[in-house]
Amino acid sequence: MRLASVRGMRDILPAETGLWQGVEGAIRELFGRYAYREIRPPVVELAELFARGVGAETDIVHKEMYVFPDRKGQMLALRPEATASVVRAYVEHAMHAGSDLVKLYYLGPMFRYEKPQMGRQRQFHQYGVEAIGSLDPALDAEVADLAAQLVADLGLDRARLRFRVNTIGCAADREGYRGVLLSHLGPRAVGLCSDCRRRLEQNPLRVLDCKVPSCREIVCEAPSSADHVCSACAEHFEGFKGHMEALGLSYEQDATLVRGLDYYTRTVFELASEELGAQDALLGGGRYDDLVALLGGPETPAVGFAGGMERLVMLLHREDREEPELDWYVIPVTDDPEVVRWTSQILAAMRRAGLAADRAYVRKALRKSLQVAARKAKGAVFVGPEEIASGAAKARDLAAGVERVVSLAALVDPDAVRGQLAAEEAS
Ligand SMILES: [Zn+2]
Ligand SMILES: [Zn+2]
Repeated sequence: MRLASVRGMRDILPAETGLWQGVEGAIRELFGRYAYREIRPPVVELAELFARGVGAETDIVHKEMYVFPDRKGQMLALRPEATASVVRAYVEHAMHAGSDLVKLYYLGPMFRYEKPQMGRQRQFHQYGVEAIGSLDPALDAEVADLAAQLVADLGLDRARLRFRVNTIGCAADREGYRGVLLSHLGPRAVGLCSDCRRRLEQNPLRVLDCKVPSCREIVCEAPSSADHVCSACAEHFEGFKGHMEALGLSYEQDATLVRGLDYYTRTVFELASEELGAQDALLGGGRYDDLVALLGGPETPAVGFAGGMERLVMLLHREDREEPELDWYVIPVTDDPEVVRWTSQILAAMRRAGLAADRAYVRKALRKSLQVAARKAKGAVFVGPEEIASGAAKARDLAAGVERVVSLAALVDPDAVRGQLAAEEAS
């Protein structure tokens, strides 16, 4: 019997990994420029971390989390998101002791048991940042600016990026808003889906996330959390919006934006692009000023965002800029042991000189070998008995289609060889 991969968990094949590495490289480079350092928490955590951190009533934890006992009966979970893990690590390693503001980023697989569909798998990949230690609304805007810069670096038009922003206030505000929301939604409960009728009792804010159309209609008319926050939170929100404007980041305020996780406080935001259809958020984030204390650390405000790698890879895929990765593809023209030995030696010399090179191991007609070479490399080198005798080889620039004999020593400097080829073509 042939075994297949598990539903919702797919292989990322070599044809795609170049794109993934490109996105990962752009993320690392940019996040580093904004002074974030990478953290790599484990994929498995205590299930309780997410029940406490993300919220037992959220869809992510309640419906979608992979939970299982280990051999001693301890309940574990595959992480459905990373913020709770990063904050757990921040507390566990007392990172607050080292610095007032700790800026961390991560990349990696997350797991949610959802219905697999185009662009949404059960094992998916997220990147994100967490800036832990400041309540300054300028930091919220800096985090948003980093998010915008990332998608701009990956080729989206900065002028067409749109943030949706909202404030959900501090814990006390949320308690008050919960009452306001309940008295609005209570009389309309018959129109809500069965999930939302349950949410109404546990956590009415979650009703605002519901994607069922009949619920959306009821939610549209619900009172806005931004109108029910204390003066300190209102001032914080005004500060955030002011800093967004100062950084040239355009936004609209959206009263129904609450984000599907319980840890959020004050600022919440999502980023979309008009180029891609502005309904679909590329990434989202916000403040979580109570999470550090909730997980056993000191009272510490924090803000961050997370987004899906798959979306970014698809963005790059649109441009389809696949380029040959190797400098040289070396083709021995006979099976003669001397030729084969030379081939290995030339290849080794290229690699030691820092070039990316590979060789043909399966002998084919020359034309076929050249087709393979053209897919993989910028240039092809042929090694045969005459080449060895003369201490030179035939090198071909695969893009330009020109060919000449060059010394074996020169092959480890393909720029020089290509320069000569170009000069020859011009003459
Ligand atoms: Zn407040
Ligand atoms: Zn609903």
